Amino acid sequence: MSTSDQLHEVGDAVVGSFRCASCDLLIASPNENDGVLVLPPCPLCAGESWRRIA
Ligand SMILES: [Zn+2]
Repeated sequence: MSTSDQLHEVGDAVVGSFRCASCDLLIASPNENDGVLVLPPCPLCAGESWRRIA
């Protein structure tokens, strides 16, 4: 590991805001459903990795 970036993959249940690791598309977990988002494939580039942002 040469980087501290935390990557999440499609299907992970997450809370917070994330950017696609490939195209930087922003997604955020919803307020309903306890704020849990199950990461989808990126709708823009079909990427399968997401990077948590502050
Ligand atoms: Zn993407």
